[in-house]
Amino acid sequence: MSTQQLLDCSKANDFLKEYKRGDGLSAEDLMDEKVTGGITYNDLLILPGFIDFPASKVSLESKITKNITLKTPFMSSPMDTVTETDMAISMALLGGIGIIHHNCSADEQADMVRKVKKFENGFIADPMVLSPEHTVADVKEIKERYGFCGIPITDSGKMNGKLVGIVTARDIQFHDDDASLVKDIMTTDVVSAKQGVTLEQANDILRSSKKGKLPIVDESGNLVSLLSRSDLLKNQTYPLASKSPHSKQLLCGAAIGTRPDDRDRLYKLVDAGLDVVVLDSSQGNSVYQIEMIQWIKQNFKELEVIAGNVVTREQCANLIAAGADGIRIGMGSGSICITQEVMAVGRPQATAVYRVSQFANRFGVPTIADGGIGNIGHITKAVALGASAVMMGGLLAGTTESPGEYFYHEGKRLKKYRGMGSIDAMEKVSSKDGNAATKRYFSEGDSVKVAQGVVGTVMDKGSVRKFIPYLTTGLQHGLQDIGVTSVKAFREGVDAGTVRFEKRTASAQLEGGVHGLHSHEKKLFA
Ligand code: GDP
Ligand code: GDP
Ligand code: 5GP
Repeated sequence: MSTQQLLDCSKANDFLKEYKRGDGLSAEDLMDEKVTGGITYNDLLILPGFIDFPASKVSLESKITKNITLKTPFMSSPMDTVTETDMAISMALLGGIGIIHHNCSADEQADMVRKVKKFENGFIADPMVLSPEHTVADVKEIKERYGFCGIPITDSGKMNGKLVGIVTARDIQFHDDDASLVKDIMTTDVVSAKQGVTLEQANDILRSSKKGKLPIVDESGNLVSLLSRSDLLKNQTYPLASKSPHSKQLLCGAAIGTRPDDRDRLYKLVDAGLDVVVLDSSQGNSVYQIEMIQWIKQNFKELEVIAGNVVTREQCANLIAAGADGIRIGMGSGSICITQEVMAVGRPQATAVYRVSQFANRFGVPTIADGGIGNIGHITKAVALGASAVMMGGLLAGTTESPGEYFYHEGKRLKKYRGMGSIDAMEKVSSKDGNAATKRYFSEGDSVKVAQGVVGTVMDKGSVRKFIPYLTTGLQHGLQDIGVTSVKAFREGVDAGTVRFEKRTASAQLEGGVHGLHSHEKKLFA
């Protein structure tokens, strides 16, 4: 007990005014490099605030560029073991955005963008189709191989052909003659719906017609997609989905390099419906990137450009002046990355995020903290330090939606995850368009390739459709503990010095982790 004279308890809040500043440190004091050196996410903590609202009320709405606002601040990395069509669709459905990698031909990349833009929740965009001249054996083979046999029949046997009939399980169930032609067993009087029909309307049509499949056709009667009643029943809604305000299509991003042939690539991506392009350089402060930004701004007025990567405000200033709509921050902080080791260049990520964001935010240019996000706490800290969004590679690798097959090693279910600057990624030359990984990390003329990344494996994490909601809810809880109701309020609190921080010593980090147990199981969500 204090020997000083005791104060009136009801005046506890008034007494706080006696202190010149809040408990803990302001962000600026925390980041004083002369005292602390450059720091990482694990070197800091945010002090708790006052809670008078439920976590579910916390708004995570945030910008990724001057003109694109997302409901959740999550982006997936343009890496060939992270983001292709499936990842980009799921990220957008859940309120974030996927950035399609460019370690492939321009046509392949544009095709992936197109599939994301054409995706309609609940509709099968690319169903199996047969022609009237196919046989019952063909239908049975599809049933055998894929498990379904609700097959629309078009005159050409392909999508976009004229819908002439439909074959379903019941049509072939008791049909023993495998040589019969589809045209002899198909139903020609097909209930279909016009392109543009909503899920609710389609649902009503299926219910009243008592059918299991609803082919969707354009004005001329050509097949554009298919709807299955079994999907409607289990159809989830995605209230956070990131969509273009006009077309209502999902938002999609893609990465390119800064060489002349990347301009040709960009024409194809924009033609496929691209919303935002990410200029993918490990050191973004180059004359090539500045010229590329200027060229894009002249030629594609509607396209948002995220430039980078940078870790200093001097690098950032050049890109903002050239017209960048967003800035990607990080050099050497990625989980698969050996840049700092090999090049002796880079910056600890928390310091980089803070310094660059403080600068960029003065110009209304949002920043993206890229690399080194290993858990939800890192996301909360990146946002605290001024980032508008985070970009994740390793955290999303190993999910159902990441490219690549699962395999077993020592009893564990794994997927490959590799740095785009790894020798492995650089050796993938898939087309005449050359190798994007090589472009990001090397001069094409280099006779010796120096790796800046490694190849590894990550554990099976299940589907991002479960994992992203876990990140969303976790981030809402983090902001609730800090006492802020939105990303915007959080940033204002940090700028005003009302959100307070603490430096975390090495022993504090040990204390903050699980410790003192014989063993434990770390299950992250249920
Ligand atoms: P069916 O009546 O035999 O066609 O099978 P169901 O309607 O019970 O199940 C088909 C499931 O496969 C649904 O979840 C579809 O979304 C899915 N699916 C995926 N691709 C296709 C496709 O090309 N055609 C059909 N019919 N279904 C597909
Ligand atoms: P199920 O999913 O196998 O029960 O098949 P459906 O309920 O879709 O169709 C049952 C029967 O109705 C089959 O013989 C179809 O060929 C026939 N049929 C007639 N008109 C239509 C139509 O517009 N759509 C569908 N899917 N089937 C139709
Ligand atoms: P992670 O989320 O796994 O920690 O980091 C992903 C980020 O690392 C990517 O978004 C990208 O910026 C960066 N990256 C990807 N591949 C490489 C690489 O081979 N070397 C380096 N230095 N960085 C990489």
